[in-house]
Amino acid sequence: MTTIYADNNATTAVAPEVVEAMMPYLTGVYFNPSSMYEPAKKAAAAIRQARGKVAGLLGVADPGQVVFTSCATEANSAAILGTLKANPKRRHVITTGVEHPSVYELCKDLARDGLDVTFLPVDTQGRLSLRDFVRALRPDTAVVSIMHANNETGAIFPIEQLARLTKETDPAIVFHTDATQSAGKLPLDLDRTLRHVDLLSFSGHKLHAPKGVGALFIRKGTRCRPFLLGGHQENGRRAGRENGPYIAGFGRACELAQEHLGEEDTRVRAMRDRLEKELVSRIPHMQVNGGGAQRLPNTTNVSCHYIEGEGILFELDSQGICASSGSACTSGSLEPSHVLQALRVPFTAVHGSVRFSLSCYNTDEEVDRIIAVFPEIVRNLRKVSPYWDSENDCPRPDAPKGLQPA
Ligand code: PMP
Repeated sequence: MTTIYADNNATTAVAPEVVEAMMPYLTGVYFNPSSMYEPAKKAAAAIRQARGKVAGLLGVADPGQVVFTSCATEANSAAILGTLKANPKRRHVITTGVEHPSVYELCKDLARDGLDVTFLPVDTQGRLSLRDFVRALRPDTAVVSIMHANNETGAIFPIEQLARLTKETDPAIVFHTDATQSAGKLPLDLDRTLRHVDLLSFSGHKLHAPKGVGALFIRKGTRCRPFLLGGHQENGRRAGRENGPYIAGFGRACELAQEHLGEEDTRVRAMRDRLEKELVSRIPHMQVNGGGAQRLPNTTNVSCHYIEGEGILFELDSQGICASSGSACTSGSLEPSHVLQALRVPFTAVHGSVRFSLSCYNTDEEVDRIIAVFPEIVRNLRKVSPYWDSENDCPRPDAPKGLQPA
């Protein structure tokens, strides 16, 4: 059985071109890039070139504003904690209730430490209110951290407007965005349209580089103190010996992502739209979570009422299809995800969510196969659901209707 990989928002396959770009630095060119001797210059050159390619994907002319990190989680922490450290008098942070845990949990921890954190709510489609946002900005706001695109639903936040409104209100507030899901899927232009964004994080493994490398864009002049102290690597912005091979691979992946941006928007989007349309038409009592928002071209998050996402994933897996659910069961909790809860997805659907996230490596045949097997899986699971009347093939009249079990 061949595997159909439809979980690209979790991680992606490493592109063969990326492996090729990394190989010299995993084998012969192992030198410390800061050393004076001749062979080390090749290692330093690889990092320099990669920095230029990352800057290219971000639309940044000055690559000196790109700092390599180990992952997006590190970049997010460095952005938020570094800003707070640089602005100790400002004790207010603004974020949203649907951020990735690397921001969401960090902000909850800051609140436990006594900082004032505003978690902006979203509507049932995962959209933010610009009016609520402007009202939340305060004279003591240090940093705004709002993701560009949501990892679970794919919903896109209007980062350009949010950053502009922030700066119009108070240029001293630092605007950070977690662009881990949008980099490589949406055009980014930090020198022009996104010129009010001060800090932007993303990660290699979401765009066909390996896990273990990421980047933080720090606009020149931004008040953000280094987070990892020690050596002078990364211009004193992030101590620790640079991961040369991974950085070289990351650079190549960014270059490829830039070349494939058009394909994300056309071929990948067409596959996602067809998948979603066919599932909606074949499966009764199914909803597309965040379907009313502007979304990433590759993501669909669907909830099948009256059954559990984990059960669906198990059955999909037995057919060789890799997807993920919106519940955190796999991470040791039975709680539905905070993102779907923030969207106020009803009780009977919040446990039944499945996210398919495609990439340029997926094919129309793979989408056909998912369309062929998914409705049957849902039908079978509903037969054993306590909320489903199998005889009449419809929900039981006493099935819960709202956010809570009956
Ligand atoms: N932010 C978002 C939006 C993500 O989707 C992820 C990964 N799921 C991260 C941050 C964390 O990325 P990393 O694994 O590189 O730390």
